Amino acid sequence: MGDPLGPFGRDRTRLSKNAVMDPQRTVADLGEFKLIDEVVKQVGTGQHVLIGPGDDAAQVSTKGGSYLVSTDVLIEGRHFRRDWSSAAEIGQKAAACNLSDISAMGGVANALTVGFAAPGDLAADWVIEMIKGFVFECDHIGARIVGGDVTASDKIVIAVTAMGEAHRPVRRSGAAPGDIVAFAGRLGWAGAGFAALSRGFRSPKLAVDAHRVPHPPYAAGPQAAGIGATSMTDVSDGLLADAGHIAVASGVAIDFESSCFEIAEPVATVGEALGVDPLTFVLTGGDDYALVATFSAQTVLPKEWTRIGVVTDGTGVTVDGVPYEGAQGHEHFR
Ligand SMILES: [Mg+2]
Repeated sequence: MGDPLGPFGRDRTRLSKNAVMDPQRTVADLGEFKLIDEVVKQVGTGQHVLIGPGDDAAQVSTKGGSYLVSTDVLIEGRHFRRDWSSAAEIGQKAAACNLSDISAMGGVANALTVGFAAPGDLAADWVIEMIKGFVFECDHIGARIVGGDVTASDKIVIAVTAMGEAHRPVRRSGAAPGDIVAFAGRLGWAGAGFAALSRGFRSPKLAVDAHRVPHPPYAAGPQAAGIGATSMTDVSDGLLADAGHIAVASGVAIDFESSCFEIAEPVATVGEALGVDPLTFVLTGGDDYALVATFSAQTVLPKEWTRIGVVTDGTGVTVDGVPYEGAQGHEHFR
């Protein structure tokens, strides 16, 4: 037996090896967000943590300043399918969703590490093509892969950590009643493409391609921070769901005005073909990595940003004053 006090003088025997666990309470019972809440309770904070869990990225102080860091895991069959997307497209998407989280803080990503797991019979060229997609996407903003890890698993797993910098990080918690809500990028395109692919269609091409490779408006993140955005997040799970995170973090209500949304043609086409109100894709479709932000009412929005709603007193997210009927976006384990 070694010294029970570790190198930093802590009693290492204090962590129970025989914790009483409730085998009946599963992660699916809790759901993604309650599980994260319970995990966050355990991690605490520290003097270097300027922004901890709960935003699109954390902010950690250094001697010279600070950096942003965020992580995301993509699993084959859940986040991507090899029969729907090429290796390069999957790499692009894995990079994009991580770079977007840094942008959603008002920052610019500059470095990524990539954890990669795959079955041994995967073609080596698939991995090379995937990394080419990664590098291509990172080139949009000058970010670089700086390290990673490779291991074996039954399914392909791509775990990415992105790091970057922001002059003034924008959190989810700063929205105030009276603010306006605006978005940059695309809404509903990837959701419509996913719906089409799910029904066995391979068109309309623009929607299907949007599902395969998102086009996050990377520059709009720092732009919003520069003009005083009070809160911001990226739309990964659906506009209503992600705006809901701003509403909860800020202690406000958000009301979207349906007349403010222009339905893009590929989204309308899928809606018509599948008999679905295309606004459903705009409000609940994920994977476009648009940015949604709030600004004080007098802010003059640059052309990249479109006003779509208002922040009010209260709780929850509504459309034209009433809760939106239908799917509310994606939550893992549900
Ligand atoms: Mg995000």
